[in-house]
Amino acid sequence: MWQVVGHEWAVRLLEKSLAQGRLSHAYLFTGPPRIGKTTLTLNLAQALNCTGEGEPCGECLSCHKISQAIHPDVRMVDLVYQKGLLEEREGSTALGIDAIRSIQSDAALMPFEGRWKVFIIPQAENMTPGAANSLLKTLEEPPPHVVLLLTALHTDLLFPTIVSRCQVFNLRPPSIDLIREALERRWGLERERAHLIAALSAGRMGWAVEAAQNEALLKERNERLDELLSLPSARRLERLSFAQRWGSQPEQAKEILTLWLGWWRDLLLAKEGCWDKVENIDRQNTLVEEAQKHVLGEIRGFISSIRKALQQLESNVNLRLALEVLMLDLPGKR
Ligand SMILES: [Zn+2]
Repeated sequence: MWQVVGHEWAVRLLEKSLAQGRLSHAYLFTGPPRIGKTTLTLNLAQALNCTGEGEPCGECLSCHKISQAIHPDVRMVDLVYQKGLLEEREGSTALGIDAIRSIQSDAALMPFEGRWKVFIIPQAENMTPGAANSLLKTLEEPPPHVVLLLTALHTDLLFPTIVSRCQVFNLRPPSIDLIREALERRWGLERERAHLIAALSAGRMGWAVEAAQNEALLKERNERLDELLSLPSARRLERLSFAQRWGSQPEQAKEILTLWLGWWRDLLLAKEGCWDKVENIDRQNTLVEEAQKHVLGEIRGFISSIRKALQQLESNVNLRLALEVLMLDLPGKR
């Protein structure tokens, strides 16, 4: 059984290819962070090497080994776990040519116990140009027993020559209802809690599962939201100290800005009375109060400021400066 939540069309297509034995040597799954791209690649790796009934069965030895990341023929090139193979690039971590070369020497060998050798490269946009060029050689002439599974935020972030060698699946976030239902059924959450986490996830299934299992995540969200609410009335100096604090932590800054984007979108929805699309469903009263403090133009303006800061974060500009500009754009008492 496929474990991924949503993306039924992609699963159906993959099942059909598997049943007909018409597989590509490379697949690329694109879409926003944490919507289930890597889960889908792991499920596909299981389906490719499953020895049970109804691929992927999730129960045979092969499926178990893959879910525990100990299958000798399925390798995930993970930025976190393969530190030795990474290159430092402008202060951020990139997937270097050594990581790809290591895949290539492994790919030349026959599968050890499975049918296919599967290499998973999550966040392929983090490859250095050298690594991407090197990977291209494998994509042009893949060994017959090899399947490469790539994920990326967007095809635009990869070399077009790489994209054209892959079968591309553009994935969209699963619906809030699907996430809520999965949290209730598979993770055993009560309805109300499942509803809140699903709404807050904004389609990020990975975040939803983490929040379901780890109380600290919702607590952290509450603290960050409270801080956000205090900032409009804060002095200029406090706002700038906020920029200073997060200016050297891109990952956290991205999370905070995403949370803010959700909040300010909710203000817009609250102002227009569209409550069914609101993410922060546990703070409806505050949303009503806050929405009254701003005119529509202010809310829209700040939403585009947050979007701009997020884009700048992706393109590695000076994060602290971007946050400072955002702090000065924040509507409120000056
Ligand atoms: Zn299996």
